[in-house]
Amino acid sequence: MMQWSMRRQSSWVQLAGHQGNFRLSEAGEVLKLHNAVESSCLQALMSDSLRQFVPCYHGLTIRGSESYIRLDDLLSGLTCPVIMDCKMGVRTYLEEELARARSSPCPRTDMYQKMIKVDPEAPSAEEHAQGGLTKLRYMQWRDSVSSTSTLGFRIEGVAVEDGRVLRDFKKTRTSAQVTDVFLSFTKRQANVLEAYLSRLQALNEALKESEFFKTHEVIGSSLLFVHDRTNKANIWMIDFGKTTPTPSGLHLKHNIPWVEGNREDGYIIGLTNLTWLVTEALRQ
Ligand code: ATP
Ligand code: MG
Ligand code: MG
Repeated sequence: MMQWSMRRQSSWVQLAGHQGNFRLSEAGEVLKLHNAVESSCLQALMSDSLRQFVPCYHGLTIRGSESYIRLDDLLSGLTCPVIMDCKMGVRTYLEEELARARSSPCPRTDMYQKMIKVDPEAPSAEEHAQGGLTKLRYMQWRDSVSSTSTLGFRIEGVAVEDGRVLRDFKKTRTSAQVTDVFLSFTKRQANVLEAYLSRLQALNEALKESEFFKTHEVIGSSLLFVHDRTNKANIWMIDFGKTTPTPSGLHLKHNIPWVEGNREDGYIIGLTNLTWLVTEALRQ
């Protein structure tokens, strides 16, 4: 768990994931529990056109019995940062997870509990009877009640200036609902929205050049929006724990619908909609 003494050196806020997966480190870095898929993505990204959109990766370190990935702390140096995590793509599970879940569907009570907390009517009669459902069923349902399936991204969490973290976005689905979140997150400040818009456009250009992007199925990865009192605003690509290389030779388009087997993630569908909704927010 994070040390309180370290916590005071940075305005560390965590919007997603297990609290225990992160530790703050000295010198403006964060440590994330090691995952081989993620560290090999970060390694490749450091020499890709996307490098300027990814927190700098400094290799691995060991703390106690655990190995950690060393990353630049994207909140370092900011005063009272306001942040938003948008999970990208039209689905948040890998094709392999789909295949695995089919071959051994294992009902889980924790997933059932999470589902009924959001919507007690959502489980089927059978799921109610067994008090459980598969992780895949839960993830597919989460994608359909949020904006993931329709807009190609969803809001996972927002942290506001006073440090409060808002995570109640599981049913934020329509473009109007998402625009409302953007407006309150930015407090309608045109310069912040404009800075986000130009960063999204720059990311779109960098993605077109990226060898990494062509050859990876980008699932469960987020764009982290960050601005602070001085209105410095930036967007970063984070979370590559489920970003997997495509079988050799396969280039993904990222802007066409997913059909099982084509591995498409809809990342560009999400980015295009995000760009459109930030533009809409600027007009309001
Ligand atoms: P999940 O897969 O459930 O989304 P995870 O354990 O893979 O979670 P991340 O999504 O990588 O974790 O990060 C969780 C949160 O931690 C982010 O939403 C963000 O708030 C914060 N975070 C992650 N990386 C950084 C970083 N380099 N600098 C600052 N904050 C970060
Ligand atoms: Mg994440
Ligand atoms: Mg993750």
